[in-house]
Amino acid sequence: MANETTPAFKRLILKISGEAIAPPGGRGISMESVVSIAKQVQAASLCGTQIALVLGGGNILRGAQFMTQGAHIHEATAHYMGMLATVMNALAMQDALESVGCATRVMTAIRMDGVAEPYIRRRALHHLEKGRVIILAAGIGSPFVTTDTGAAQRALELEADILLKATKVDGVYSSDPVTDPEALFYPQLTYDEVLAKHLKIMDQGAVTKCMGYDLPIRVFNYRVEGNIEKAVRGENIGTLISNF
Ligand code: UDP
Repeated sequence: MANETTPAFKRLILKISGEAIAPPGGRGISMESVVSIAKQVQAASLCGTQIALVLGGGNILRGAQFMTQGAHIHEATAHYMGMLATVMNALAMQDALESVGCATRVMTAIRMDGVAEPYIRRRALHHLEKGRVIILAAGIGSPFVTTDTGAAQRALELEADILLKATKVDGVYSSDPVTDPEALFYPQLTYDEVLAKHLKIMDQGAVTKCMGYDLPIRVFNYRVEGNIEKAVRGENIGTLISNF
C-alpha cells in the first residue's frame, strides 16, 4: 500500500455495473444508491490517483435480454439501447459526484452534443491530469460487447495501471457464492486460469485484452463500505488477476 503522498496507481479504470445504482432488488436508478457510490468515489479520488469510471447499463437494459425468438428487434439495435442506458447512468453519476464536491466530465463514445462531451482519448487524458473524475459512457460505441470490454479497451488506451472491477461479491469464486455455499474463493488468479476455468466474472474478451497487455484486474465487493477507496489505494482486497 502506498503512503498519502504517493498513490499506489497513477491512473486507473473503475468499472461499476449498473446494478450498483439500482434500488435494492429492483431496476432503474436510485439516486440514493448513486450518491452512496459517488461518495465512495469522491473519497477515493482524494488520494491523487486519476480515476476513469466506466458505468454499465444493466440496471436499465442489456442488449442480450431481447434475444429471444421473434423479438422483433435486431440484436444490434438492442445493444445500442444498452449503450444509451449507460449514458443515463453516467449523467446521474455526474450530478451525484458534483453534489459531493468532485469535479467530473462525462465523455460518451456515441456523439450526443448538448448532453456530454465526445470521448476523445487525448481530451480524456487532459481531464484526468486536471484531477477530474471522468465518466466514460456508451461503452466503446459499438454493439455486441459489454462495458467490461469497454473498460478493458479504455484502460489500455488511457494507459491505466489497473482495471478495478467492482461487483456485489467479494471477488472471484469457483461458482456463484450466492447460490453455491461450497463455492471456493480465489484471492489470486492468472488470466489463463480465469479463461481455462470459465470463471464468469467478466467477459472473456475483456480478460483476454488485459492479458495481452499485462494489465492487472482487481475484482472486489463495492457493497462493503470503504472498499472502493481501499481498492484505489492499492490494498489487497478481493481477487487480483494478473500474470503474477
Ligand atoms: N453495450 C454495447 N457496447 C458497448 C457497451 C455496452 O453494445 O461498448 C450494450 C450491451 O448490450 C450491454 C449494455 O450496453 O449489455 C449495457 O452494458 P453492460 O451489460 O455491460 O452493463 P452492466 O452489466 O455492467 O451493468
